[in-house]
Amino acid sequence: MQTTTVNADSYASYLNGGLDFIDDAALRRALAAPAPSPERVREILARSLEVSEALPPEDAAALMAVEDPGLLEDIFEAARAVKRKVYDNRVVTFAPLYASNLCVNNCLYCGFRAGNDGAVRRKLTLPEIKAEAEVLAGTIGHKRIVFVTGEHPATGAQYIADAMREIYAVKVKTRRGFGQIRRVNVNAAPMNVEDLRILKAGGIGTYQVFQETYDRALYAKLHQGTTPKTDFRWRLYVMHRAFEAGIDDVAIGALFGLGNWKFEVLGLVSHARELEARFGIGPHTISFPRMEAADGTDLPAQSLKNVSDADFKKLVAVLRLSVPYAGIIVTARERPETIREVIGMCTQRDASTRIGIGAYSERYGKQEAERQQFMLGDTRSLDEVIGELAGLGHITSFCTSGYRCGRTGDHIMKLLKSGHESRFCKLNAVLTFREWLDDFASDATRAKGEALIKKEIAEIRAREKDFPPETVKLLDAYYARIEAGERDLCF
Ligand code: SF4
Repeated sequence: MQTTTVNADSYASYLNGGLDFIDDAALRRALAAPAPSPERVREILARSLEVSEALPPEDAAALMAVEDPGLLEDIFEAARAVKRKVYDNRVVTFAPLYASNLCVNNCLYCGFRAGNDGAVRRKLTLPEIKAEAEVLAGTIGHKRIVFVTGEHPATGAQYIADAMREIYAVKVKTRRGFGQIRRVNVNAAPMNVEDLRILKAGGIGTYQVFQETYDRALYAKLHQGTTPKTDFRWRLYVMHRAFEAGIDDVAIGALFGLGNWKFEVLGLVSHARELEARFGIGPHTISFPRMEAADGTDLPAQSLKNVSDADFKKLVAVLRLSVPYAGIIVTARERPETIREVIGMCTQRDASTRIGIGAYSERYGKQEAERQQFMLGDTRSLDEVIGELAGLGHITSFCTSGYRCGRTGDHIMKLLKSGHESRFCKLNAVLTFREWLDDFASDATRAKGEALIKKEIAEIRAREKDFPPETVKLLDAYYARIEAGERDLCF
C-alpha cells in the first residue's frame, strides 16, 4: 500500500504563466488599502445581497478593514440578510465520524501528526464503522455525517468507499420510524483523479479538503519534510481534480489562527472565484475552524491569540457576504456563546460531536479522554442544540434530498442564486424536522420544536405564490404519513 504520489503534472495545466490563483502580492495590496468610505461599504453590501458570484478579494478586504461600530453592525445585518435570502431560517446539523488517526504527514499543529509519539494509533474496521453509524443514526438522530481520516495508505479511497457503503446500509429502529445516515461527506487527503472516482462510485456527498493556510511561506514552515502534504499546489488544486473525477460538490476551508486571518479570508474567496471561473460551480460550503489546543503540540497555545472573538465574528460575516451562495459551517470547536453570535449568518453546524476514534459506539455519553485531533468548545447534545436553535427561531433541517434528486453542481448553484432552492428546502426542513421530533426529541425540545413547526407550516400556507395549493396538499399528505411512521419522504 502506498500513499498517493504527488504529481505536479496534474496541476501544471491550470497554472497561468507558472502562477497559481493565489496572487500573494495582490492580496497583500488589498489588505494594505485604507478603510473604505461608508458609501463604498453600502455598495458592496448591496452587491452581495444580489447573490451572484463571489465578490472580488478587494471588496472582502474593504469589509474587513471596517472598524466603525455602526458600519460593522450594517455588515453583520447584511450577512444575516444574505443568509435568510438564500437559506431562510434553516440550520443543517451533522456530526464528524473520525475513523482513523493514522497519518504520514507531520503538520505541526495537529495531534494526529506522524511525529507525535504519544498518540495511540487506531483505524476502525468496517464492523466498528457500522457500530459508530448505528449510534449516530439510531441513538443521536443524525442523518448526515462527515467521514474523517488522516492521510495514510491504510485509509485510502477504497477504505473510504467501503466505509461509505457500510454506513449507508445502516437502518436502526427508532421510537416511531427508523434512523439512517443519508449523506456521507468526506474529509480526507487530497487524492488523484483515479482515487476520487472511487469515492464518487462509493456515493460521496461533499468532498472536503481544507488548505489549512493560503500563505505559502507559512504553509512551507508548518509542513516540512517530504510528506505528501509539503506540496502547497497539490493541495490547492485538489478540487480541480475532483471536478475532473466527476465530483461537483466540493468544500473548502482554512484553519484560522495559524497566520493572518484576513489573508486566509482572501485565500478562500480567491479559491471560490477560481472554481466558479473554471468550472461554473463554486464551493458548496466553506469552513473556518479556529485553532484549538491539541494533544502532542504546543503550537495552538500561541496561535489562539491570532483570531479574537471579535475577529471571528467579522470573518464569518465577510465570508458570508463574499461568497453569498455558499453554505457556511461553524463548528463545535467554538464555545456555545460564540456560536450564538454567528449562527444567524451560518447554514450548518455539528452537534453531539465526538472526535475520538470509535468514540460514539464505545464511549458515547461518557467523559473519558479521547484520542483526539483537537479540543471541543461545544460538547452539548444534538437535542440540546436543536432545542436552543428552535428557541431562537432556527429550524433544524435534516434534508438530504437535494443531492439525491440531482440538485448538485451547476443545477444547485442556479437554484441557490435565484432563491428557488429555498422553496424545496423549506418543505423538506418541515418534513425532516417532524421525523426527528418524533424519533429523538426530549420533551423540552419537542415543545419548542412543535411551536416552530406550526409557525413554519402557517408561513408556507400564507405564501401561495411560492407554495401553490397542490404543493401544500402534498406537504399535508407527506406530513401525515411521516407522523404515522413512514420516513424519507421529500420534495
Ligand atoms: S492535519 Fe491532517 S494531514 Fe496533518 S497531521 Fe493532522 S491528520 Fe495528518
